[in-house]
Amino acid sequence: MIVELQEKTVHDTVKASGIGDRGKKQCIVSGFRMKLIHFKLKLSLLGIAMTCYTNPLLWIKSLHYLVRLRKRFLGNNKLQKMVYAGGKYYMGLYTPGWNSRVYKQFIASQLNDYMPVRGGGANRFNTVFLAITKKCALQCEHCFEWESLNKKEVLADVELKEIVRKIQARGVSQIHLSGGEPLLKMDTLINVLEQANKSTDFWVLTSGFKLTNNNARRLKNAGLTGVVISLDHFIPEEHNTFRQFKDAYYWVEEAVNNGNNNELVTALSLCATRAFISKENLMSYMELAKQLKVSFVQILEPKAVGHYTNKDVLLSLDHLKILEDFFLEMNFHPDYKTYPIVTYHGYYQRRQGCFSAGIKGLYIDTDGDMNACPFCHKKTGNVLDGSFDKNLEVLKSEGCPSYTPN
Ligand code: SF4
Repeated sequence: MIVELQEKTVHDTVKASGIGDRGKKQCIVSGFRMKLIHFKLKLSLLGIAMTCYTNPLLWIKSLHYLVRLRKRFLGNNKLQKMVYAGGKYYMGLYTPGWNSRVYKQFIASQLNDYMPVRGGGANRFNTVFLAITKKCALQCEHCFEWESLNKKEVLADVELKEIVRKIQARGVSQIHLSGGEPLLKMDTLINVLEQANKSTDFWVLTSGFKLTNNNARRLKNAGLTGVVISLDHFIPEEHNTFRQFKDAYYWVEEAVNNGNNNELVTALSLCATRAFISKENLMSYMELAKQLKVSFVQILEPKAVGHYTNKDVLLSLDHLKILEDFFLEMNFHPDYKTYPIVTYHGYYQRRQGCFSAGIKGLYIDTDGDMNACPFCHKKTGNVLDGSFDKNLEVLKSEGCPSYTPN
């Protein structure tokens, strides 16, 4: 069963594709069709294993490793849905779309953790966050870059491009460009995207402000994969208040529509505060997300950093239980197979520890300083200095300050 997110784009080529989703911009795929694609995906994993190892025994063992890896994160919950967008199939916001070159490299990089792969071509990073500007028109309640907002820029385009080059030289599946509000620096974004090599998927993290149709088209043409748009309440006025910006909600809707219409993968990101968390509110949010035709919803937990510094914002165990139950139900209960896929880092991090902090990712702030992640501001050197690899090892050895596995 396919739930169409962009009916008007259904095209005659759908029939000819053999899978049936080409010609549509974005849709959730479930039922028999998803099983068929998942079967093809699993076959492709064998193909990747065969390119990674010469020993046939390792082909089988490495596939078992991938199965165990999935179980570590998701238990025995069976896949219920995928996202089809931009010609690829996605199982999660932080996994590149199948069957792209980036996806193959991503899988090879996971296998490299099991047993070094041939050619030494594994990526050093899964996901790197790079803040490209201090500029922003909003004043969000939870902003983690609050102290640097609208101060003098430190990184010029040439330095941002050098950072991307440096990260890509070590291998990276995804780079998420953030800020400030990155869309206020459209020319910089285009510059960075155009000079980057195509071995990485690029995403933009935005409030939606200024994601006009023209800007969405420019970004798509420059090679952007998708946009993660912040929306913190399903009631427009509540969102505007949280963001201290009277048109914040208007721009969320604009951004989603313009993203969808230009074949960017669209996701909403929710900062789930104590005041917001209830099963009813989360459900209303998902109804809106489905109506807006986004592919993913990301749930973030508030942290006492940036604008929330010294504030009592951490969630209680009861709040976390509501979020975790909701995450599982929304992704794995058949009743919700037509809804966007929910991403919730906290769920994995509490069980497996954090994979950022120099392990599989990091956050590079607007000064070029290296941090464990966007919410853990503990600087470990500057990405542009000569000791990058040494600093990375320090970051990794110090680990995530917030999460240790159960
Ligand atoms: S959270 Fe993002 S959109 Fe909000 S003030 Fe901070 S940088 Fe701007």
